[in-house]
Amino acid sequence: MAEPGHLVLVATPIGNLGDLPPRAVEVLAAADVVACEDTRRTGRLLAAAGVRARGLVAVHDHNEASQVGAVLGRLRAGEVVAVVTDAGTPGISDPGERLVRAATQAGFEVRVVPGPSAAISALVASGLPTGRFVFEGFLPRKGSGRSERLAALAAEQRTLVLYEAPHRLGRTLADLAEALGGGRRTAIARELTKLHEEVWRGTLDEAVARAGTMEPRGEHVLVLEGAPPPAVVDDALIVAAISDRLAAGATRRDAVAEVAHGLGVAKRRVYDLALGGDSADRR
Ligand code: SAM
Repeated sequence: MAEPGHLVLVATPIGNLGDLPPRAVEVLAAADVVACEDTRRTGRLLAAAGVRARGLVAVHDHNEASQVGAVLGRLRAGEVVAVVTDAGTPGISDPGERLVRAATQAGFEVRVVPGPSAAISALVASGLPTGRFVFEGFLPRKGSGRSERLAALAAEQRTLVLYEAPHRLGRTLADLAEALGGGRRTAIARELTKLHEEVWRGTLDEAVARAGTMEPRGEHVLVLEGAPPPAVVDDALIVAAISDRLAAGATRRDAVAEVAHGLGVAKRRVYDLALGGDSADRR
């Protein structure tokens, strides 16, 4: 019996055509239709892999919403729809998310053929901690969306992974240095898997200086060290700060509020210490 209609997300190379997984070739050849961002580009990829696709349909950022109905119609008709993007993993700063949501909500199975993604490739090559990381994709280009995101990232302790276009790289590095501090360890992964592949490593300030001396070319991923954990504040430091405030004439209530705010610790803890008690809470 034929399998019911389903969606298959297929990762494709981020530069080197040799990185198309063998199972991707099988799935793309067997699919009833391949949904792709650019039919000519995917046509070239398929030709290079020796795949004669049964059909190609364009689903990109500008028509993904309207194409969802057509794809669901195909799934209902029992078809297998493979989803690829121009490069890398669908749904990662690329179309795919909407199709997956619609397919799952309509009760269709979604499968995946995993493969390249620039974010993971850059992260593992960066030399920065890989145990915990956040993927930020492209930062908002301007306005409060951008400044609010930058401010939120400043306290993020996990390794940060961002995409950026070459002509915006210098501006983004400068904004990151201002928001996060220029001392953060940084890796810039450029043209991964391609002829001019390189991973540059240094501080954020050094990255800003370097971007100012040369015109960045090609595709880039930025990987940044996370923020250091907040310093542990000693009880003795809190007690000394309270004594200073009281000696300066502050009321106990004001002294507690000022010290809690100044040292970034809980008011309850400062209050307990102001009363001469012990604090179990280190924050
Ligand atoms: N879906 C893709 C993925 O899984 O990596 C990402 C698509 S996003 C539209 C394109 C961005 O990915 C580029 O602007 C760049 O930041 C990054 N990128 C893609 N290929 C790359 C490569 N070979 N080397 C470095 N960065 C790359």
